[in-house]
Formats: sequence, C-alpha cells, structure tokens
Amino acid sequence: MEFIDLKSQYEALRPEINKRIQTVLDHGNYIMGPEVQELEARLADYTGASHCITAASGTEALLMALMAIGIKPGDEVITTAFSFIATAEVIVLLGATPVFVDIEPDTCNINASLIEHSITEKTRAIIPVSLYGQPADMDEINAIADKHGIPVIEDGAQSFGAVYKGRKSCNLSTIGCTSFFPSKPLGCYGDGGAIFTSDARLAQIMRELRVHGQSKRYVHSRVGVGGRMDTMQCAIVLAKLERFDWEIQRRQEIGAHYNERLNDRMEVMQVRPDRSSVFAQYTVAVENRQSVQAMLKEKGIPTAVHYPLPIPLQSAYAQFCCLEQYPIAVTMSRKVMSLPIGPYMNKEDVAYISDALLATRRRRAVHAAMATLNA
Ligand SMILES: *Cc1c(COP(=O)(O)O)cnc(C)c1O
Repeated sequence: MEFIDLKSQYEALRPEINKRIQTVLDHGNYIMGPEVQELEARLADYTGASHCITAASGTEALLMALMAIGIKPGDEVITTAFSFIATAEVIVLLGATPVFVDIEPDTCNINASLIEHSITEKTRAIIPVSLYGQPADMDEINAIADKHGIPVIEDGAQSFGAVYKGRKSCNLSTIGCTSFFPSKPLGCYGDGGAIFTSDARLAQIMRELRVHGQSKRYVHSRVGVGGRMDTMQCAIVLAKLERFDWEIQRRQEIGAHYNERLNDRMEVMQVRPDRSSVFAQYTVAVENRQSVQAMLKEKGIPTAVHYPLPIPLQSAYAQFCCLEQYPIAVTMSRKVMSLPIGPYMNKEDVAYISDALLATRRRRAVHAAMATLNA
C-alpha cells in the first residue's frame, strides 16, 4: 500500500497522458507553449474566476500574489499557525511580518473569530489556508478584510476542486493560489501551480511578474521572478483534468467510508455542511501518535503527519513566535495523523486501515488496564 498512489492513476490515464506528452515533444514549444494557455482557460472556466495564471509552483503562485498586492518590508500579513511552511515563507521572503492566528480543533483551519483581534494599522493581507482539502470560513474572513480594506489570498494548494457555498475554491477571495505538486489532488509530474483572480489589473501584474516583470520583450517595468509553469507540466494537468471530477467524487466516497467507521470512535477532522472537501488528506487525531504509526506500519499501512510543528515554532520563524497564542495548533501538531486516501482505493482498503487503527487503540487500552492491575 502506498500513501499516495500515483501509479494506479497513471495506469488509468496512460493513453491521454502519453498523447499529451507526445504532442508537446512534437511541437517543441516547451516554455509558454499552447498547452499553457489551454490549461489557463480550462482552469479559469473550472473555478469561475476570470483569470488563471499558471505558475512554477504553489509557492511561486503565493509569492507572486503577495508581490502583486505590493507587500513590502514592515507590512504585516495574517495567516494560520498551522500549514505547510510555504504559506508563511513567502511573507518573510518579502520582508513582511507573518502574524499567526490559531486554528479550530475539528478542521485545523484558521479560526476566523480570532483574526480581527490581530489586525493592526500595518496589516496588508490575510492568507487563510484551505487545509486538508476543505475551504476555511471564507465569508467571515472576507467580511473582516472588507471592513479593513485589505485583500484575502486563499492558499488553496490542497483544496482545488472543493466547493464553498456553491463556489469553487480559488475563486472565493481577491486571489486564490493552488499547487500541482504531484501529491496534491490535481498534480502534475514535477512542480506547478496556478493563481486565480477576477481582478484584471492584478492578473496583468501577475502575468508580468511571472516573466521577470516584463511588460514587452526585454522591457522590464517591475522586478519579477522566473515563475512560469512549463508546457509539459501543463499538458499533464490537462490530461488529468479529464478525470478530475470523477476522482474528487471517489475521494469523497472514500472519505465517507472512513467517516462511517471512525467518526463515532475517534477524533476525526470534520467537513462543514456548507462546503466540501477534496480530501487531499484524511486526517485523524490520536494520542501516542508515534506508537500508533509504528503499529500501522507493521501492518503495511503508511501514514504521514501534516504537520509535526506549528510554523511559528520552526526555528527559522522563532522571531515571529508568541507561543501562548496558538494552543490549539500546538495540541493538534502533536496529535494529527493522515491515513492513505485516493481515488483508486476501495472500500476494503478503508476497512483494513480503519480496523487496524481501531485495534491499536484496543491494544493500548489493554496495556493500560494491565499496567493498572500490576500497580
Ligand atoms: C503544497 C503546499 C504549498 C506549496 O506548493 P508547492 O507547489 O509545493 O510549492 C503551499 N501551501 C500549502 C498549504 C501546501 O499544501
């Protein structure tokens, strides 16, 4: 069993993927070739955003989004304490200060009710993350941002395809960013990402930033980055897009099977009724995580931890840390564990994994009872 099964997906899509790759090899336009525009049009259509700008990675997408809204040294950007490091990294790279907000224990998304308290006259943006595949409380977050006249950038690296109150992730705020890292719900075979916005001015700025701030060939009106996604990776995402909605549905079915078996028996991440998750991860919270992981490994079940430390507790971010401010993130970082999930798993896999997980808890209960008897 693999934690993320990309081989089965390739087997299912082999003719489409091979054909798309061969087409790129035949025309040879490896940078900004026709598949780049084709993918951008398809993804803009898919999300409902007016503009899609593909990017070299999810991290580059976030970086260009922050550059486009003019984030500079001294600015503050509010984000969650509990995410992949890239969310905060781009803020610090621009010389700005990340202001970390705690999370909700049952979704691990940013706790929107704690955001306003962190806004100062220096706050220039809010970056909520749609963690594990489920959008954060975007209406509440957008309302706070509107009140203070600041933009919201959704880090939708894990949530592409999720729906929030009838709208798609990455089209829920000023700018949405996603990643096509191979293990994400919609992945390529290398690095890739995309930015979404319905603001034509920001879209134009980000298109220029992506090519070294170039407005016309060799005319550089702003300082940019090398931020393009290559044609081959766009071709692969185009091929995978054919099956993407089916894959999301399968992920959600697998998620529902896990819920049936685990929801009443242990702490499981909850999906709010007004939105969907694309289950980039299926995550539970356990005590004694290391021993649970070891017991599952013995049965051939791989697990992963997203994430073992809140961002402000990482040494490179210690200067932005204020420990007492994110007790939930600290607690969850010690307990969360993600189980294998993917569109090519079946109900029997879920039963095997869930039974093994529940058995580790019984084993612990027996050990605890024996310890009490012996005492
Ligand atoms: C994966 C991920 C990123 C970064 O995406 P890359 O394509 O790997 O650069 C950013 N934020 C979150 C929440 C992620 O999961």
